[in-house]
Amino acid sequence: MSQWPMLKIKRDKISFNADRIIQKCRENKITVAGVTKGLSGHPEFAEILLNAGCGWLADSRMDNIFHLRKLFPGIPMMLIRIPMKSEISSLVEYADSSLVSMKEILPLIDQECIYRKKTHEIMMMVDLGDLREGLMEEEISAFTRSLKKCSYVKCTGIAVNFGCFGGVIPTCDKLVQLKNWGEQLSSELGYEISWYSGGGTSTLIRTEDGSLPQGVNHLRIGEAFLLGTDCTGQRNIPYLSQDTMTLECEIIEIRTKPSLPFGTIGADAFGNIPFFSDRGIRQRAIVAVGKQDLRIEGIEPIQKGIEVLGASSDHLILDVQDSEEPISFGDKLEFRLNYGSMLSLSTSAYVNVKFI
Ligand SMILES: *Cc1c(COP(=O)(O)O)cnc(C)c1O
Repeated sequence: MSQWPMLKIKRDKISFNADRIIQKCRENKITVAGVTKGLSGHPEFAEILLNAGCGWLADSRMDNIFHLRKLFPGIPMMLIRIPMKSEISSLVEYADSSLVSMKEILPLIDQECIYRKKTHEIMMMVDLGDLREGLMEEEISAFTRSLKKCSYVKCTGIAVNFGCFGGVIPTCDKLVQLKNWGEQLSSELGYEISWYSGGGTSTLIRTEDGSLPQGVNHLRIGEAFLLGTDCTGQRNIPYLSQDTMTLECEIIEIRTKPSLPFGTIGADAFGNIPFFSDRGIRQRAIVAVGKQDLRIEGIEPIQKGIEVLGASSDHLILDVQDSEEPISFGDKLEFRLNYGSMLSLSTSAYVNVKFI
């Protein structure tokens, strides 16, 4: 197996972020579920989260939960993508809880629970405007009626997601609405729910400016641990490290070439008609990573004076003419990443994910 491309993850920086986030949440009486999907459920990441005091692990994919369940048998595991009908059997077997928005799935989970003689906890997922998953206010009562018919499915909370699709910010009034809908849910169920799960990383801002409504007591955090950023809030989180990981790739070709393709132009490997501007003869380098591994819009060379020109499946093409440091064949170049690039890199079977 090739050592490069290498996704180098700095254990001490992630651990630092985990400590800070968990402490901040503890001060605000918030329980944190550590979301591992950003690194495809990587066990070393999960371990850092658990060591920092994360009480729960959460992932969007049953496959990741399956692997983590084997490694961490006693830890509560939550599926945070609303379940597929076709995965109920493994859901009940390997996860302790899930977020649910379709009342139709409740009796199916309940049946599976009866079959396995297990209970399963759910949080009712509501939509407060981001328009991804979640039920609308007028559907709460019907959902509650379905819940009351279950004997092994227990609703322990209400949850909401922000930012990911509609870019909606978790403002204080939205979270008050979550609290109110949760109280309605409690009163219709006839018992108090335990959890008001107010979102992910983008909700952390509410703990920083003191505008988190009373009662919101649960968050599902991923991005902040991994990158120290809040993509929806378009900010670096001030008390966290952003220097948590880099992509390292090896140069496989370096030479001077014209900056304009020559010949009759058709489409590139992905069906797009390429456009280039003429900058004369330039020194270029190719590193061994490509679109099969990486969302290239989300990377940035760390070394000054290097520019990403584009990529095909297996080749990333760079203009290195203005590089401040000399560059030669076989050198490794480093890149910073955003969430999307990290996600794709951790998913690629061709990338060596290494904790250092
Ligand atoms: C991805 C996800 C999270 C974690 O979001 P971050 O922005 O990475 O903190 C939380 N909840 C749900 C439902 C998710 O899909």
